[in-house]
Amino acid sequence: MRIAVINKKLCNPEKCGYACVKSCPVNRMKKECITIGEDGKVIINEELCTGCGICVKRCPFDAIKIINLPEAVGLLIHQYGVNGFRLFNLPLPARGVVGFVGKNGLGKTTAIKILANKLSPNFGNKDVRLPIQLRTFFEKRGERRLSYKMQKIEALRSLDVTVEELLNTFGVGVDEVKRFELEHLLKRRLNELSGGELQRLAVAVAWAKEADVYFFDEFTNFLDVKHRLKVAKAIKELANKEVVVVEHDLSVLDYVADYVYVFYGVEGAYGVVSGLKSVNTGINEFLLGYLKAENVRFRPYAITFPKFSYEDRKEAEVLAYPSFNLSLGDFTLHVKAGRVGPSIIGVAGENGLGKSSFIKVLAGELSVPGFKSELSLSYKPQYLDHLPADAVVEELLRECVDKEVLSRCVDKLELRQLMKLSVKELSGGELQRLAVTLALCKDSELYLFDEPSAFLDVEQRVKLIELFYHTFSKRNSVVFVIDHDIMFLHAISQKMIVFSGSPGVEGFASEVLDKRTGMNALLKLLDVTMRADPKTGRARFNKFGSVKDREQRSKGEYYDV
Ligand code: ADP
Ligand code: SF4
Ligand code: SF4
Repeated sequence: MRIAVINKKLCNPEKCGYACVKSCPVNRMKKECITIGEDGKVIINEELCTGCGICVKRCPFDAIKIINLPEAVGLLIHQYGVNGFRLFNLPLPARGVVGFVGKNGLGKTTAIKILANKLSPNFGNKDVRLPIQLRTFFEKRGERRLSYKMQKIEALRSLDVTVEELLNTFGVGVDEVKRFELEHLLKRRLNELSGGELQRLAVAVAWAKEADVYFFDEFTNFLDVKHRLKVAKAIKELANKEVVVVEHDLSVLDYVADYVYVFYGVEGAYGVVSGLKSVNTGINEFLLGYLKAENVRFRPYAITFPKFSYEDRKEAEVLAYPSFNLSLGDFTLHVKAGRVGPSIIGVAGENGLGKSSFIKVLAGELSVPGFKSELSLSYKPQYLDHLPADAVVEELLRECVDKEVLSRCVDKLELRQLMKLSVKELSGGELQRLAVTLALCKDSELYLFDEPSAFLDVEQRVKLIELFYHTFSKRNSVVFVIDHDIMFLHAISQKMIVFSGSPGVEGFASEVLDKRTGMNALLKLLDVTMRADPKTGRARFNKFGSVKDREQRSKGEYYDV
């Protein structure tokens, strides 16, 4: 079956003069294959389309996709209009925590909306006989009590209430306020909260509601590493009900979920949902790019976590900084001296302990006595307002020095379709992909990345690991990376600096630790243990209180990978 998908956001007939309509060979034979709809955008008749692909090549904005669907995609559940996105199969909740894993634009949110009774599926406007399981589900859908933590929590900021007022409206009690660390925020208005505070509030409201089915759509966004695990622990406690989570932090997903559904397809065009799999099998198959039970290869290669070859290098010292204390208002940061050679140093710890301030010292944006780096610098800050709003992506990328790294980034981070857009038109994830690419393509001695995985989907995060590997295994640079995604940080770091202390009051940066010591220190602070999966070697959190967890704690080996 062949489908044609038009991205209406990208389609811009005023600028192209309907290049696709003019070039379609079927249209030239006086048949109406590509026509113009009421909104001025084009419509492709899939019956008449021969799949020649000429329109795809002619469209200057990458707005058309012509796709031959693989066989056996399953049941068409929903289609957003003619030439719109199609979702095949419905991932039904089960008792316990069920995770959805897959890149963005494959219909995870669409599926949640259908499950949560917010969207009525149209089954492609065809008469279908539903399998018994789905029929039963739809008959009972309206009777079940639902609780829903939405993905785009920023929308809450438009509510003109205080945290306390919102919590009272939803009957959230003192216990939940404590558990999600909201006590000190009660009098604040919602538009005064940080991203992490707003996320904890949204989770608390959904968590406290008495329901039969719970939905948590991307709950780790804006949360630091400590709060990711705290929230995950709380969600696990709901496992005697039906819980659905969408999550791009693979180690957190692995920790929180009992089962997963893998989503695959072509983003924005179609998404297919796999069968229900145990969390370990599902994540391993997602990384492999191959679903065994379905016999489907959805990615031509497996994602592996390469071992960096830095160990073989001579440990030449590239950067040295002294011990220092830095006062910023009421906050004090204490840093232990460091000497580092070419390597990637993971910087970890909860928010408010001074990680970004430390990076700003290395970048020369904050000064401390006795330190001034002379190294050439490439810096990807946490907030991405450093890029000019009107600049066009294509023009910014033209400045890139390392063309080989650039072409790899364009390919892996799927930048091609963003080329003609200006910075102000980009979403959070798109902006992050651009900013990371610009930083990677500079040929520098010192690289600083502040939260490069934020807003990226799971597939882009694992591809970023590969990009870091390829870029830095051939450069003699020092690279510092702050991040809260443990899988990501674990995969790229050879050394670590771990921050501890009291958020907003006092922060302590450790010396530069080897990876094992650093991971051990971090996991101890987070009160969680980690082991290697015996089959794949993938680092996994132990379930709290499991035999392995107790064993590792008693030996003080929080990290046994
Ligand atoms: P995910 O949650 O996996 O990122 P979504 O379910 O949000 O995926 O979206 C899948 C695709 O469906 C999107 O790429 C978008 O093109 C399309 N889509 C989502 N909502 C609508 C809508 N209301 N109208 C038309 N298309 C939509
Ligand atoms: Fe122009 Fe592309 Fe839209 Fe066709 S799909 S009208 S070529 S922008
Ligand atoms: Fe026409 Fe070919 Fe495009 Fe189909 S793929 S709409 S036949 S130009």
